Amino acid sequence: MEKNRLNSHYDVIIVGSGPAGLGAAFKLAENTQHSILLIEKKKISSGGLRNDCKQNYTYPVGFPCEHWSKEEADELLKEVASHLNPTIEAKINIEKYAARAKKIGVEILSIDQAHVGTDKSSELIGNLIDALKVLHVNVALKTEVHSIHAKKKTISLEDGTYISFNHLILAPGRADYDWLQEQMDTLGVPYSDNIVDIGVRIETKEENYPIVRDYYDPKILFPGKVRTFCTNSGCAHIVREKYKGYYSVNGHSLSRENERNNLVNFAMLKTIRLTEPVVSGQQFGKILGEMVMQLSGGSVIMQRVGDFRMGARSKAETFNNDLYDFEPTLKSAVAGDLSLCMPAKILRDIWKSLKMLDTIIPGVLHPSTIIYYPEIKTYSNKPAFIDKHFCVKEGYYIIGDGAGTSRGITAAWASGIRAAHGIIKENI
Ligand SMILES: Cc1cc2nc3c(=O)[nH]c(=O)nc-3n(C[C@H](O)[C@H](O)[C@H](O)COP(=O)(O)OP(=O)(O)OC[C@H]3O[C@@H](n4cnc5c(N)ncnc54)[C@H](O)[C@@H]3O)c2cc1C
Repeated sequence: MEKNRLNSHYDVIIVGSGPAGLGAAFKLAENTQHSILLIEKKKISSGGLRNDCKQNYTYPVGFPCEHWSKEEADELLKEVASHLNPTIEAKINIEKYAARAKKIGVEILSIDQAHVGTDKSSELIGNLIDALKVLHVNVALKTEVHSIHAKKKTISLEDGTYISFNHLILAPGRADYDWLQEQMDTLGVPYSDNIVDIGVRIETKEENYPIVRDYYDPKILFPGKVRTFCTNSGCAHIVREKYKGYYSVNGHSLSRENERNNLVNFAMLKTIRLTEPVVSGQQFGKILGEMVMQLSGGSVIMQRVGDFRMGARSKAETFNNDLYDFEPTLKSAVAGDLSLCMPAKILRDIWKSLKMLDTIIPGVLHPSTIIYYPEIKTYSNKPAFIDKHFCVKEGYYIIGDGAGTSRGITAAWASGIRAAHGIIKENI
């Protein structure tokens, strides 16, 4: 095991080898003589770098505006690109869609994007990890950090090993938000509640959503804080991800080398920020997820647009008839009734946005189109940062999606660079 080679002390320990952790590791390794340990509990980083790996290179996609100016993001995106070597996808015929959208109060963002594909991403990650090792970063995969001991400036691993540090960068991602919150409590870092994104994932035939032939992942903003998110086509599939107490759907696609299945999937998400008396966005997301578990017998719900329009639930026996002419890619989803599971305000705003989308790109609301629910994106409570380098306490930095400093691969990487700048500056 790689753990055996670990030292008892490092100048910098980075927890999490997603894009945020990698961004910090490269910046520090290339610009300092610090001893660096990068720790990852899985055998390969588990977020979007591994799944699908669409990279967005246009501000503000992925960059929460309260933390980032366009100038800084543009500058850092060049540095991100120098490590990820993206091949930017072509975008054509966008003007016709954008003009239609504008007429009805919808905005189509023009974004520079690259797509690696789930089948190719592990090679990319492997090359990045190898490059870090050449730069003398100690990389410990399959090694989980259990807790942090602030007084002694040490971390403890699951196997009971203690390692001390001068600087600790936490980049555990969104999935481990509850672990991060425990660590913030231990460190005495104040935090505030964060937003939650709740929505559906649409699956349809490519011919019903031909914009994807011209623009790989169209970023479309609707009124009511609804947006398209994470579009997949080519060889595209919907997956079910397990969270504590519920499943959320997600989508991904394989690289262009794979045979096309002529299906498209994308999320329609509504951002919710709860205020008093109920303030926990995460708890709200969890309750909605658990309700779907109850109604679906332990899975996620899917409904054909044709049934939804008629106010009828979808049923297993009628789900694939002549009009409903493609099979769902997520076999474990249960045919049911969205209206029974979704809060009215969320359903209303998303359905209205879908109708607007169907005006801009006629066909997407074909009766066969499938709506899967829920797609839930929770974020960790937001730490109170004491400087612009995402420092939360002297020697401690929290970055990436888990900290609410990013919402995507490239911005997460940029947040790692910014934290590294903080450490480099401290030592000048
Ligand atoms: C299925 C899926 C597909 C996605 N697709 C895209 C996409 O195509 N494009 C895009 O821009 N974004 C995508 N995203 C979002 C993207 O994953 C995140 O924006 C990005 O990965 C955030 O980077 P991060 O470094 O903050 O966290 P992560 O990438 O989540 O990395 C955090 C890492 O920390 C590790 N970790 C957590 N706790 C510990 C611990 N205690 N000890 C050791 N290691 C720990 C985790 O195993 C994980 O590998 C996707 C997300 C998912 C879940």
